[in-house]
Amino acid sequence: MATRDYYNILGIGRDASSDDVKRAYRVLARRWHPDRNQHDADAQQRFKDITEAYRTLSDPDKRVRYDKLGPLYTEDGRPPRPEDLNQVANTVWGNLFRWRSTAKGEDLRYTVSVTLEEVVTGCEKEVVVPRQVRCRTCDGEGATAEGRERCEVCKGSGRASGPRLLRTDCYHCSGRGFTVASPCPDCHGDGRLGVEDTLRIKVPEGVATGQKLKIVGKGNAPRGSGDAGDLLVIVSVADHALFRRRGDDVMLDLPLTFPELCLGADVTVPTLEGSTTIRIPAASPPGKVLRLANRGLPKVGRSARGDLHIQLVLEVPPSLDEGQRQGLERWAGDLPPTAHPRRALFDKLVQERR
Ligand SMILES: [Zn+2]
Ligand SMILES: [Zn+2]
Repeated sequence: MATRDYYNILGIGRDASSDDVKRAYRVLARRWHPDRNQHDADAQQRFKDITEAYRTLSDPDKRVRYDKLGPLYTEDGRPPRPEDLNQVANTVWGNLFRWRSTAKGEDLRYTVSVTLEEVVTGCEKEVVVPRQVRCRTCDGEGATAEGRERCEVCKGSGRASGPRLLRTDCYHCSGRGFTVASPCPDCHGDGRLGVEDTLRIKVPEGVATGQKLKIVGKGNAPRGSGDAGDLLVIVSVADHALFRRRGDDVMLDLPLTFPELCLGADVTVPTLEGSTTIRIPAASPPGKVLRLANRGLPKVGRSARGDLHIQLVLEVPPSLDEGQRQGLERWAGDLPPTAHPRRALFDKLVQERR
């Protein structure tokens, strides 16, 4: 598919003679030849475009077909596919390869890591973001006034010749009306400069991993005029050694000794903000969960908070010395079977099935 206007590429009118086509091609091919622009990808693309345009417009049959079909022209003569028709409808001819864009600059992404404690309070993070800003020396144009030369193809208008409906930016100067004779000394013709921008980012309370914060205008500046893109800050909440998150609620395992579970105890536990003392009731089975209301995470946009769920976990001593072992055996021997009703039920079943 012809994604660009061949007449525009060669800088000639639609009424150009075959000699005009040849002449335009010779001048442009010499200027953009890869041998003369070895490390310039833009020049190599231009040379390809110029050659493609010349191949079509220099062949009378192809030129007639191209004039009739416009952007739906294909070199091999196959009929246009439905997606080609869509592409033509969605793009204006010539807009696919422009140096200058009045569109916004690119959006940038940056990941910021926060702790669970910071999710509770919200926080401010200082980040250093590498981004492109507009060059002040040339005002983003790539050349200062002295370094610009009037575009000969469009005579400085920046517009391509052609029927009004298809009229687009001049291909040779990308619509700027001038070409760069000597690039801006500061940005070397790019129109933009890379900087490391230090930004303070406000991370609100209650955020979760994957949430995006949009900082308007802190992305890349575009080339030429137009607004800078946005900075999308992606939140990543770091795993915590003790607390596990479940939505707005937070889970905590509390290791307890067997006597604490049997006799009850007052135990001081960490929370996301400081610590608090909770009462473990006597005869608490391991696995039991105690809930501390409003000690979880803030709910985004609401004053309510989640809960802190504390699961009681039995911690068994990995080893005992002789005296401790004897003490425990004596204690176990003192207990009647009714002290462990569920275990007694097991034992009864096993007896019956012997
Ligand atoms: Zn021009
Ligand atoms: Zn500059």
